[in-house]
Amino acid sequence: MQFADIQGLEQTKTSLIKAVRNDHVAHAQLFLGPEGSANLAMAIAFASYLNCGDPGVRDSCGQCPSCLKNQKYIHPDVHYVFPVSGTEKIRGKEVVSNNFLKEWRSFLEENLYGDIADWSGIFGGENKNLNISKEESKAIIKKLSLMAFEGVYKILIIWMPEYMHASAANGLLKILEEPSKKTVFILVAHDSEKLLGTILSRTQKVLIRAFENSEVQAQLMETGVSQDKASHIARLAAGNLKLALRLASEVEEDRVESFKEWMRLCYGRDYTKLVEWSEEFHKMTKISQRSFIRFGLSILRDTLIAHYGDSQLMKLTEDEKEFVKKFSQVVTPQKIEPLTSLFSEALFHLERNGSPRMIFLDLALKVSKSLKEVEIQN
Ligand SMILES: [Zn+2]
Repeated sequence: MQFADIQGLEQTKTSLIKAVRNDHVAHAQLFLGPEGSANLAMAIAFASYLNCGDPGVRDSCGQCPSCLKNQKYIHPDVHYVFPVSGTEKIRGKEVVSNNFLKEWRSFLEENLYGDIADWSGIFGGENKNLNISKEESKAIIKKLSLMAFEGVYKILIIWMPEYMHASAANGLLKILEEPSKKTVFILVAHDSEKLLGTILSRTQKVLIRAFENSEVQAQLMETGVSQDKASHIARLAAGNLKLALRLASEVEEDRVESFKEWMRLCYGRDYTKLVEWSEEFHKMTKISQRSFIRFGLSILRDTLIAHYGDSQLMKLTEDEKEFVKKFSQVVTPQKIEPLTSLFSEALFHLERNGSPRMIFLDLALKVSKSLKEVEIQN
């Protein structure tokens, strides 16, 4: 996560960068932003900047060993603390952030703008009694007593300090007040009223405003949503990127449906309908046209994986899984390669501004032919 991965919020980024460049980094900061805002993303981008080996005037370099580790959320000097609760496997004193790091990384990768319920769903906490416990505060003090391994700064990101037990907060006060050198605490919260006054008074506030509609729209379009849909969803989500991404993923379900239907027509060699579809593709935005092809490529890849039985690798929705299962009964591994080449070729021509009408029709004909050969072989 770099600053560039977050749409807009230029003022916030500039003032954070300025503090680092002037060597005026406050050692305890509170990133306060509403739900669906960039407060956590900004904290992580800031942590990457702080320890970047070659920071620029606008962003971390994204390429040095430190940046690469931060991208995978495995930097040894960037620690994460977040609310947890007991699960079937993890109980009692074991219920501390360190024992949930694998799940935490998936959360950051898949749902960076998510809320506590999304997080709880990932680690199996069932939304019950989540907190940052006294045990956790002991673990924090222990972690911070060690020297930084390789970074310039030792950073502790505490997500949702609203869930901090009073005893944990009290345990942290001293270290918040007199941290060891080059230690930076970043508390990432939504609601300052739920924080203890003693914590508030020891942290410097960084207000992260909600996203503007245009920023939400831009972020959605980067994930392949068409301009019209992105604009519509952005208005509905009113600055909440988490909500916008969820709404967009519901729209994506249409994409499975359209891909299924289009493949069915190819398989049935319904040329009249396929010509009509090419006209429809022609009217779509460039981003949506490419997104359809990319989706096809990802389905082919997942079908190959499905053949070798590794369902673990597939991050698919239920609809997609069901489709891949059926699709893999028709398309053998030997056929996936030529089909993949056909889709890649179509993408190549779209990117070079070929006529979408012709490209989609040509693709349909070739895919029909390829599927026919599959049938004969079978
Ligand atoms: Zn770097």
